Amino acid sequence: MSEQRKLYVRSFGCQMNVYDAQRMTDTLAREGYVETDSPDDADLVILNTCHIREKAAEKVYSELGRLRKAQEEAGRQQMVAVAGCVAQAEGAEIIKRARAVDLVVGPQSYHKLPELLAEAEARRSGKAGARAKLVETEFPVEDKFDFLAPPTREAIGKRGPTAFVTVQEGCDKFCTFCVVPYTRGAEVSRPLAKILDEVIRLADGGVREITLIGQNVNAYHGLDAAGRPANLAELVRRVADVPGIARVRYTTSHPRDMDEELIAAHRDMPALMPYLHLPVQSGSNRILAAMNRKHDRELFFEIVARVREARPDIAFSSDFIVGFPGESDEDFADTMDLVERVGFASAFSFKYSPRPGTPAAGMEGQLPEDVKSARIYALQALLDRQKAAFDEACRGRRFDILLEKPGRFPGQLIGRSPYLQSVVVEAPREAIGTLARVEVREVSTKSLSGDILGGEFFAGRPIGETRFIGQSEKLEA
Ligand code: SAM
Ligand code: SF4
Repeated sequence: MSEQRKLYVRSFGCQMNVYDAQRMTDTLAREGYVETDSPDDADLVILNTCHIREKAAEKVYSELGRLRKAQEEAGRQQMVAVAGCVAQAEGAEIIKRARAVDLVVGPQSYHKLPELLAEAEARRSGKAGARAKLVETEFPVEDKFDFLAPPTREAIGKRGPTAFVTVQEGCDKFCTFCVVPYTRGAEVSRPLAKILDEVIRLADGGVREITLIGQNVNAYHGLDAAGRPANLAELVRRVADVPGIARVRYTTSHPRDMDEELIAAHRDMPALMPYLHLPVQSGSNRILAAMNRKHDRELFFEIVARVREARPDIAFSSDFIVGFPGESDEDFADTMDLVERVGFASAFSFKYSPRPGTPAAGMEGQLPEDVKSARIYALQALLDRQKAAFDEACRGRRFDILLEKPGRFPGQLIGRSPYLQSVVVEAPREAIGTLARVEVREVSTKSLSGDILGGEFFAGRPIGETRFIGQSEKLEA
């Protein structure tokens, strides 16, 4: 191993970026890099960027400006790499706009980071002659996942009892507002066995909850050992069977790909958490068609009803876009109506942001900012009321909570409910990584708190030797 250097990675945007950041960190750990949580302290800074909305993309430039200023003030020599979807979409443009940058690397080339960094370093020091800064935004033929280093046991332990695992990347849906098909490329699923190897390794390091992630995760069709495509329901079942894994989630799904087997998995697999993030974007059929969403509001209602029938205690979250080109007051009223009818436990909502190169950016009927602002305000107020009502209805309920980390005050731990709510309890640090049965006592806007009734740690049973309390029990209404 070469001399130890410090690495700071900052991720913007989605969970895919969080996962990618960990894999870059694991890969660079082999090269002698250790993580630091301060950019000022780092020999190498990686900004792992998001291009989904203009605001997200612009953040990287303000961060680069800040870095450059701090470097100048401290007289510091620091390598700076821009990774992620802005790197893919803007490539060499980034070097032109931000002089602090030494390397631009797209999401499909992270496995090449060690060699790219060595080359960028050589160019910077002039050893490679006077050459332009390095930009790598190809979609290489090899699979990056085969070359990215797995995390060490120590790294897994540090990251806590929950983990993301990317199972599918890219998207073939081409919604007219979205950059993902251009920045992440065509849809590719990882083979089942490779995902299971990763999950087994994570479980061995103490991980109890796996979230399977992908831009279009329920379109998963990775090959199994016999060379046949396996669907997401099959993958969820295999992951839930890994000893030590108590909970499974998946995100993000497309309504079009919610097949019968996946819906049945919600009925048959207690380890599959009763919480489904299912973006709908709009409640208006006219807008859904203009978005090329490939589903209408009726299909969305039908899926919600079928999933609720399969798993009555399920809760939904979703993504919404307001102010899509041509969205009328009636279209927006349809979105509000859909929200009223479904009832969401949580949601993300965004003002439409025109993205370069996407069909919607060139559509007629772009709406003024004040219309978008008024609509997002109304929608978020409704979604906030629904979230508050959902949380309030949890008062007095009993859940299994996965205890994840210390709380703000001594003696407190924070865990997550099946619905991803933060729950504060009083428990010793040694209970982190175990499931506790909790009765919810208090409800606030940020979190719930409750009393522990029992659980793995409290029953004195070691992790992994038991099927977990609550798994076979239906949540009480
Ligand atoms: N694949 C997922 C789907 O089909 O819904 C989501 C992918 S995207 C990373 C996350 C969310 O960002 C989308 O669901 C959408 O609500 C939002 N989004 C994407 N493009 C947008 C744009 N141009 N303007 C505003 N919001 C956008
Ligand atoms: Fe983007 Fe649509 Fe693909 Fe989701 S399904 S990633 S919104 S193109």
